[in-house]
Amino acid sequence: ATADIGLTGLAVMGSNLARNMARHGHTVAVHNRTTSKMTDFLDAHGSDGDFVGSESLSDFVASIKQPRAIIIMVKAGEATDAVIDELTGLLDDGDILVDAGNAHFADTVRRQQALEEHGIHFVGMGVSGGEEGALNGPSIMVGGSDHAYERLGPIVEDIAAQVDGTPCAAHVGPDGAGHFVKMVHNGIEYADMQLIAEAYDVLRSVAGQEPAELAEVFRRWNEGDLESFLIEIAADVLAHVDADTGRPFVDVVADSAEQKGTGRWTVQVALDLGVPVTGIAEAVFARSVSGHDAQREAAQKVFEEKLDAPEVGEDFVEDVRTALFAAKVVAYAQGFDMIVEGSNEHDWGIHAGEMATIWRGGCIIRAKFLDRIREAFDDEPDLTTLMTQEYFATALREGERGLRRVVTTATAAGVPVPGFAGALSYFDALRRDRLPAALIQGLRDNFGAHTYERVDRDGTFHTQWATDDRKEVEA
Ligand code: NDP
Repeated sequence: ATADIGLTGLAVMGSNLARNMARHGHTVAVHNRTTSKMTDFLDAHGSDGDFVGSESLSDFVASIKQPRAIIIMVKAGEATDAVIDELTGLLDDGDILVDAGNAHFADTVRRQQALEEHGIHFVGMGVSGGEEGALNGPSIMVGGSDHAYERLGPIVEDIAAQVDGTPCAAHVGPDGAGHFVKMVHNGIEYADMQLIAEAYDVLRSVAGQEPAELAEVFRRWNEGDLESFLIEIAADVLAHVDADTGRPFVDVVADSAEQKGTGRWTVQVALDLGVPVTGIAEAVFARSVSGHDAQREAAQKVFEEKLDAPEVGEDFVEDVRTALFAAKVVAYAQGFDMIVEGSNEHDWGIHAGEMATIWRGGCIIRAKFLDRIREAFDDEPDLTTLMTQEYFATALREGERGLRRVVTTATAAGVPVPGFAGALSYFDALRRDRLPAALIQGLRDNFGAHTYERVDRDGTFHTQWATDDRKEVEA
């Protein structure tokens, strides 16, 4: 056995990850169900480093040094289970099996438990950054045992993106922790993109700026607090002109956004955990609305679109910028709340600040302000919400006026801004002294005797609503 690590599943992600490892001096055993893909891979990329190609799974397993570490990079779902089943019989006590596909963390927990009985250390590894990241340095979120990370850590930290000499890879926690954090990362990505899209829409529809001008606006924004990969590529996409028609690219793209499902998973899991990730939820639903062609068509036939945009001056652009940053702070704060809550629920011991560290490079939401998030958790590991930490509180104070103006202006003009409005409502809800949830409690007690607590004394109470004297009793 000569290989340092094995990888099965040589489609685009697997090939790139294998090449990345080989380029860093690791000998990689490679395998693919359809053998020709393995031989094609070696023909095309054999010169990247040292590979050991095998046609059969048993030869593949035999070619890896013990304890073996094997990365599975196949289609998520049943294919992953099938490959795990086939490999299980070939492995020895202490071997490490890594699922680097986009698995739901609950599947990872289930697989980990099943394989523990066979003495196999199962790892759920979230890999972010798409094809490009896989080849040149992704952000890697590892969930598994300490034993597994001891064997795997040096390799993944080697191939991950590096920012200021720190690898964007970490041992997040046991079993499903890595895939959970990867899922929330994707959810945050949805929220971030939705806010960027709304900022574009408002500036175009209200301030009347053309995509090419807006590309310049985004480029400027990318030099300040908003500096991030998504703002950078937003400028790129807005500047792009369609070769066929000569029109702005954004005007020829069908306006129905797709989703592969990780954003939806985030919201489903957030509902179970009881964490209000409104920014992510609004983003997932906004994509869903964009794809509801039948309803959109029906509504457009009955309700004529009337964009009644009020006059705005140059200062509106700055208001949108501060609003975007403030809304982004809210969305990230909610995402980190979810990581903390998930970690508590599953006893994962996730270090929230470390997640910000490993998202600084390699992944889609890489951004300057992740450094600030890490600093916030370094200063105060048990931070209740990022929103109150000094840097973010300042962003919210400075952005509040802009956020209100953007939401009111867009709403008056008929431009939907669910992301901005949701962020503002969340901000307003948190800082309000009294919320109308008090009335909801009254309604619940009235129709269903669901009981309530009081502000002035301990206990649980019920009012006898059906009686004339409406007596309050202790429940
Ligand atoms: P695909 O999801 O298209 O999967 C293709 C690979 O799976 C092929 O190697 C194929 O083998 C193998 N496969 C499928 N079914 C089976 C089976 N029953 N038994 C054995 N092998 C099987 O490949 P991608 O490279 O696009 O993605 C791989 C994983 O990475 C997925 O889980 C995906 O969700 C995730 N991913 C992650 C991204 C990210 O940014 N992190 C981006 C894209 C994907 P064969 O050649 O024989 O058909």
